Amino acid sequence: MESNIVDDNEKYCTKCGAVINKEAVICPKCGVRQPASSTPGSRNKVAAGVLGILLGGLGAHKFYLGQVGVGILYLCFSWTMIPAIIGLVEGIIYLTMCDEDFDMKYN
Ligand SMILES: [Zn+2]
Repeated sequence: MESNIVDDNEKYCTKCGAVINKEAVICPKCGVRQPASSTPGSRNKVAAGVLGILLGGLGAHKFYLGQVGVGILYLCFSWTMIPAIIGLVEGIIYLTMCDEDFDMKYN
């Protein structure tokens, strides 16, 4: 009797359902690109938090999170020290946020 249980380094293709390597970016059977959601996000909340706390006034955490427009805004107003304060608060929020929430928002 054949087992249908996928082991730890395999997953099902989202398109054709074939069992493929977990690391596969593109299914070898149907050629469909696999969503990256099953792999941990590329953006790290600790890195974002530390950047916000240390370099928040320069918008470093915003650039890191891909919010370039907001980052530039922070940079423009860095002389007011307001972005530094907001960055500090945001950095603490990132660090206290649970991983799922962070991934959902920024990954
Ligand atoms: Zn496939």
